[in-house]
Amino acid sequence: MRRHFTAIAALLIASILFANSIDAALQGTASLKKPDDAAALSATDEILKTVSRLRALDIKHSVKSGFKTKDEIEQSVIHDLDEKTPAGEFEATQKTLVKLGLISREFRLRDYVVQLLREQVAGYYEPKTREFYLAAWLPLADQKRVIAHELVHALQDQHFDLKRFDDWRKGDSDAELAAHALVEGEATLVMIEYDFDQQGLQLDVAKLGALAEGLLEQDNDSDAKNYPVLAGAPRVLKENLQFPYLYGAGFVAAVLKGHSWQTLDDSYASLPASTEQIMHPDKFLARDNPVKIELPDLVAMLGKDWKQEDADVNGEFGYQVVLAEFISKRKAGTAAAGWGGDRYALFENKSTCATVLVQYTVWDSASDAKEFFDAYCERTEKRYKVNNPMDASGKARVYETSEGLVSIELRDKDVVIVEGAKNGEQLARLSGRLWQSKKR
Ligand SMILES: [Zn+2]
Repeated sequence: MRRHFTAIAALLIASILFANSIDAALQGTASLKKPDDAAALSATDEILKTVSRLRALDIKHSVKSGFKTKDEIEQSVIHDLDEKTPAGEFEATQKTLVKLGLISREFRLRDYVVQLLREQVAGYYEPKTREFYLAAWLPLADQKRVIAHELVHALQDQHFDLKRFDDWRKGDSDAELAAHALVEGEATLVMIEYDFDQQGLQLDVAKLGALAEGLLEQDNDSDAKNYPVLAGAPRVLKENLQFPYLYGAGFVAAVLKGHSWQTLDDSYASLPASTEQIMHPDKFLARDNPVKIELPDLVAMLGKDWKQEDADVNGEFGYQVVLAEFISKRKAGTAAAGWGGDRYALFENKSTCATVLVQYTVWDSASDAKEFFDAYCERTEKRYKVNNPMDASGKARVYETSEGLVSIELRDKDVVIVEGAKNGEQLARLSGRLWQSKKR
């Protein structure tokens, strides 16, 4: 059972946006009354009524609540991970992240995720028992807004069934992250509305989209002191943790702009299909759905010493992170936009532990593909500290690196990448087979 955790990231955007609007309100005549935070949990029924009104969803039944200590939250996190993500799966993801140069070989992914969530979880809603819990250490000032956030999850669950998000099909992480961004983005946006409502203010949703992007750009130094685990986290973890709240809130704001809550209700029946649609809500509204890629069986070709460790979809957001680890964030963002679909797989040699990563990517146009090709070449040169490709046409490059051969090849709207081939012959066979992947 996956609980719907509320991370500090949600509170961060609430407080920044709210601080701005308080400034604006003070210039007017509004008098600000300080919310009464004492005994916040006893206000649950009343907050539920307010959230139900703001979100335009009826209350079908009441919601139970309680506090959890940091240790109890850590236990819940570990319990969830044990149920949802077996250790083997974590190791597979860890190997892919190492291969991509996003974490070091010594980094222990699962342990870090537990510590990160222990630090970052402010509350969570449990669909199975229809209960929510508040982090006992949360400052009083944040309690009501986290209760509001959790109660949005309760209403989502009563109307759209959150349990169905728990058993997401494997190897489809980009779509899962997108669905998660819908759920968290909505809860975060309504939480902010709740804050505004308490001050007698109305929220200007138009502000939110730009704000979310700005927040992902900034590195807040004061947070390093308060949240050392997050501050010390590899970029890939930090950004994946924050994505559903930041981009999700921007997405929900964009969908609501010029539409009603009904449009958002409908999006639960037909979920956003990719992080691309979350990052560019117009693509969601136009239902510009991703191309699905099916890779051929490469284990048979590699030989019996090899096994497939991991296979998944990176998506536009994933590629933005993968590129930005080594090239400028702006360039990475531009190159990742224009994403049309992808699939990657990681293979490991059982005796040598050598790994080969293959990626098949499809782009909206030939120029989008070329842009990604160039960016991935630049990334590769920085990642492996190489700068003289053995073969350097404008459409294919092969680099000799400390981890074997890396090839990046562009054909029309597609780019195929192989990282870690042991020799030219293996590389030629792998990429030859990869180009036979099926698209639909
Ligand atoms: Zn949440």
